[in-house]
Amino acid sequence: MGLTAEDTALRRCRLYYDMLTDYNSRFNLTAIKGEEDGARLHFLDSVGILGAYNFSGKTVVDVGTGAGFPGIPVAIWEQSAKVTLVDSTEKKVDFLREVCKALSLSAKAVHGRAEELAQDWDFRESYDIAVSRAVARLNVLTELCLPLVKVGGVFMAMKSADSDEEIAEAEKAAVTLGGKLLPLYTYTIPGTDITRRVVMVEKVRNTPEKYPRHYGVIKKKPL
Ligand code: SAH
Repeated sequence: MGLTAEDTALRRCRLYYDMLTDYNSRFNLTAIKGEEDGARLHFLDSVGILGAYNFSGKTVVDVGTGAGFPGIPVAIWEQSAKVTLVDSTEKKVDFLREVCKALSLSAKAVHGRAEELAQDWDFRESYDIAVSRAVARLNVLTELCLPLVKVGGVFMAMKSADSDEEIAEAEKAAVTLGGKLLPLYTYTIPGTDITRRVVMVEKVRNTPEKYPRHYGVIKKKPL
């Protein structure tokens, strides 16, 4: 993937993995089946997005980060990035705060719903980059994420290879919310035959104030 693994990064990954498996045995945070799968399907998949855009020194928000993917591996590998991890489940956010402390990461974990945070000027149009994996269908996800991105920034959605229909369906939502679809970025997760697609949406205009709507409306009447 063209990335170098410094000793400290590897040590942090090990510690994070151990914390994940320990918490998982109690709270079932995320599906991880062994070290190799964890390394490939969570860690390598997460850092794969670093090849799609320059994260150096950028403010990054990971929407629906869950147990910390892709946000924690991004924070480990791109230490100059200022990472905010957002999730609506409090126990996950508590876990992430412990991870950041144990790993000495400056990443910040915030408990909240993306669509509610985006109506607060402390968060709205405040990030250079929004990333998200496995949270919602792209038309819905774009309304959750793009309002958080500054004009000139980018929203990066991690999707699977068979996402053509989803992408076509989300184009209108992207435009309505002030975005423009950029060419897709694809990579293969090393050691697997899984091809990952990153849908890149550039923020070209401010998001109209009425967006994002309440989650019920977003779901019922997706853009
Ligand atoms: N990104 C992680 C977790 C995916 S599971 C991964 O790929 O492993 C989806 C997560 O999104 C859950 O933890 C859920 O709590 C969170 N979530 C769902 N809707 C959300 C919203 N509107 N705002 C913030 N978090 C949300």
